[in-house]
Amino acid sequence: MIQDETKHPIWCNGCDTDTHIFIEGARNPHWAPAGALDVAYFCAQCHSLYGHLVKESELQGKFAAAIAATRRR
Ligand SMILES: [Zn+2]
Repeated sequence: MIQDETKHPIWCNGCDTDTHIFIEGARNPHWAPAGALDVAYFCAQCHSLYGHLVKESELQGKFAAAIAATRRR
């Protein structure tokens, strides 16, 4: 089954929401295009793990803040 494109870059396809998502970390690997982050996150509701490139400019505000916090370390 082909899923529709999600409306947001960070999203749980299992729950069809971003409510239960926690950001594990974000990196800017050398192979990634400029402005893209390799974001790892999981859904506390269905325990799905996700990791993929996200354009920083497309991040939802709450996740942009969470990622900024993880990257300050
Ligand atoms: Zn979920």
